[in-house]
Amino acid sequence: MALEEDDSAVPLVCPATAPSKRKYKSVLLIPLALLLLLAAGAVFLSTDSPTLRTYAARRPSKLSRPAVLLVSLDGFRFGYQFKTPTPNIHRLIAQGTEAEEGLIPVFPTATFPNHYSIVTGLYPAYHGIIYNYFTDPVSGDQFTVANHDPKWWLGEPLWETVTSQGHNAAAYFWPGSEVVKGSWTCPPKFCPKYNESVPFEERVDTVLGYFDLPKDEIPSFVSLYFEDPDSQGHEVGPDDPQITEAVARMDRVIGRLIAGLEKRGIFDDVTMILLGDHGMVSNCDAKQIFLDDLAPHIQIPESWVQSYSPLLSIRPPEDVSSSEVVAKMNEALSSGDVNNGKYLKVFLKEDLPSRLHYSASYRIPPIIGLLAEGYKVSQTRTNSCECGGAHGYDNSYFSMRTIFIARGPQFEKGRKIPSFENVQIYNLITTILKLKGAPNNGSASFPNSVLIPSS
Ligand SMILES: [Zn+2]
Repeated sequence: MALEEDDSAVPLVCPATAPSKRKYKSVLLIPLALLLLLAAGAVFLSTDSPTLRTYAARRPSKLSRPAVLLVSLDGFRFGYQFKTPTPNIHRLIAQGTEAEEGLIPVFPTATFPNHYSIVTGLYPAYHGIIYNYFTDPVSGDQFTVANHDPKWWLGEPLWETVTSQGHNAAAYFWPGSEVVKGSWTCPPKFCPKYNESVPFEERVDTVLGYFDLPKDEIPSFVSLYFEDPDSQGHEVGPDDPQITEAVARMDRVIGRLIAGLEKRGIFDDVTMILLGDHGMVSNCDAKQIFLDDLAPHIQIPESWVQSYSPLLSIRPPEDVSSSEVVAKMNEALSSGDVNNGKYLKVFLKEDLPSRLHYSASYRIPPIIGLLAEGYKVSQTRTNSCECGGAHGYDNSYFSMRTIFIARGPQFEKGRKIPSFENVQIYNLITTILKLKGAPNNGSASFPNSVLIPSS
């Protein structure tokens, strides 16, 4: 089913959305159009152009089956789209469906856990990428973002779901895309090795090139990843003019993508989902909590700490009771002895709020600290007083939200939907692609609440 609107591509006699002046002109032209119709068969007069154009009822799509293009703008906080004119993003919003108050990331609101939740529909405790770096407590092996060993990456990402059902998939960068797993071999043609220095325009052009392939080779699913505006967000925080510039630039990159799809006549056929992985909030060294300050109550050696900020995770040695550590830490933090102590609360992972879904993995250390928005945890007091931006906090903070905008045959034009968690996206995409999805944490009914039924 086609989108009804289009601003330019299809020369309709009387576009439903045309300005009244044009409608008036159309009324006058109707008799002439009828005459021409009789005389020339399927030739209509376009009010958009003085010339006659052949109007074929929407030409058959170049695509033989549905295709989804999933685009991530890293760290695109919800609201950035209003910082500066973003005509291309706003075109997608106007012609598609938008989470009106943003997309909710999973906890921890970090890049790798979130990107992998988007493509697997699983919370980090279930897909295994519990943070951007961590240590496996059994093997002692360390995970970093450069690690492509499949033992770390659980669940079934979309590229695997697509290829296992006989279709092509492409991943132009995405956390986990280079992991060879099941039917997914990360073929060089469709799965370039991550290289942050590849210009954004080149990424767009390569992805557009996938749609120039013979019909049966065009990937059904394509991911496309950009590091910005996250890079600027960390450096200067979300409210700096540099962010405004980065947002304007990313809008132009999206514009290039749209123009390329239009040029190929497939903009209305490809489902484009534009989202981010998390938001961004300003954080300054003045808002720090130092673990050394807890010493009068309990000493937390550096060797116990797996990550500091914004996700404080602690794994004490086996002969130390985690419950006791939690009790002592919270006693210290609420004693008034620790600078900014009230902005950190420590939990046994099984006592974390269940809405965080952050306990059901042995990889998650037993003690997790939740920091107030914009605060930092460090080991030792320093005199640093820099300000920048961070993410990784509780996903209930509005600042951690990002965007969700989708345009395509099954997304209603101009529709606003309530915020939802990104684990719903896997089912949404498998439904659009008419594929059987792997088990996941998303709701089976979510796609029906958002999509126009396919014809
Ligand atoms: Zn990120």
